[in-house]
Amino acid sequence: MFDIVIIGAGMAGAVLAERFAAHGKKVLVIERRQHVAGNCYDELDDNGILIHKYGPHLFHTDDAQIWEYLSRFTDWHVYHHRVKAFIDGKPVPIPFNLNTLQEVLPRSLANKLEDALLENYEYGKKISILELKQSSNKDLQFLADFVYEKIFLHYTEKQWGLTPDKISGAVTARVPVLIGRDDRYFYDRFQAVPKRGYNVLVKNLIDHKNIKLLLNTDFHDVMELRGEKIYLFRRKFKGRLIYTGQLDELFDKKFGKLPYRSVDMKFETIATEKFQSAPVVNYPNNYDFTRITEFKQIHPAATPCTTILREYPQEYVMGRNEPYYPIFTEDAVAMYKKYADELANFQNITAVGRLAEYRYYDIDDVVRRALDVFNDLND
Ligand code: UDP
Repeated sequence: MFDIVIIGAGMAGAVLAERFAAHGKKVLVIERRQHVAGNCYDELDDNGILIHKYGPHLFHTDDAQIWEYLSRFTDWHVYHHRVKAFIDGKPVPIPFNLNTLQEVLPRSLANKLEDALLENYEYGKKISILELKQSSNKDLQFLADFVYEKIFLHYTEKQWGLTPDKISGAVTARVPVLIGRDDRYFYDRFQAVPKRGYNVLVKNLIDHKNIKLLLNTDFHDVMELRGEKIYLFRRKFKGRLIYTGQLDELFDKKFGKLPYRSVDMKFETIATEKFQSAPVVNYPNNYDFTRITEFKQIHPAATPCTTILREYPQEYVMGRNEPYYPIFTEDAVAMYKKYADELANFQNITAVGRLAEYRYYDIDDVVRRALDVFNDLND
């Protein structure tokens, strides 16, 4: 009956469903939650403010094809994300840049360090904090230690439960040190949030006569792997299965539990029009939470109050909270490889997305990957 079965109605599943359906295939999408859009899911809260239920999701890409593809399913609210970090009692721009330098250190010292940066790096260059720490220049070493201590070390300990040297350097490299004065969080050509939200965008993607969506449905209840065969509703399924969930769950955790990091999301309504000086303020060194997001600074709303979200990172425990981030320790990556090798035995299963591929994908990365998978499979 179905050519394609997709487990998970997040961004990866929705883009693949749309592509296959548009090419005449019958697609079944199975989603455990009662809503689509995965962790991009957003909704209007009681104050009429569009909130991101699973933490702030900001779309940004340099890829015009992805921008154009998604623009077929949503209008945009152009929005260039800004983040500040609360350092030594005041919020300063993040990623750390030349403006931040002038705000956190006395002028003569800041000028000296700025000169050292500009002598050693081209204006506009982005470097990772771990790279800056390797510098042989004494002034830059001082600066690197300062930035590492004030911005990266304790935030990373809170966020991951690990120091930066215990996880892949690619994680902290997401937030570079910028030799420049651009205070935005991302530097991509296209930056925006879907005007009516990600939930509406994903609904539009899967709104097609060839797509059937089953919400509130755990894939274990309708599907089973036996030997190297897939059974769907107790019958052998010969089509293609696209799996976007945690890979260890597909194989009953036979090689162990893949670690994911979770976050306790605590929303609060505050009786003031504006709460903080930027849409997101990070707290690397103070409090148990990592950051506060104020949603009406992302999606404007004319309300007398405001909604904020404090994020408290925690261990992921299946059934108790949600998996948000794969944890890139050496052991975890080795365990994932065992699952990926197991998956390779199944000719007709493809793993796609942040959870299933154990990758720190951004939204545009997921869309790119889904479009590439479709192109490969549709050959
Ligand atoms: N990071 C940090 N301090 C900050 C911001 C980020 O140490 O103020 C590190 C931290 O390890 C974090 C990583 O950089 O997990 C990636 O940050 P990003 O803002 O990309 O995280 P996301 O928004 O995906 O949670």
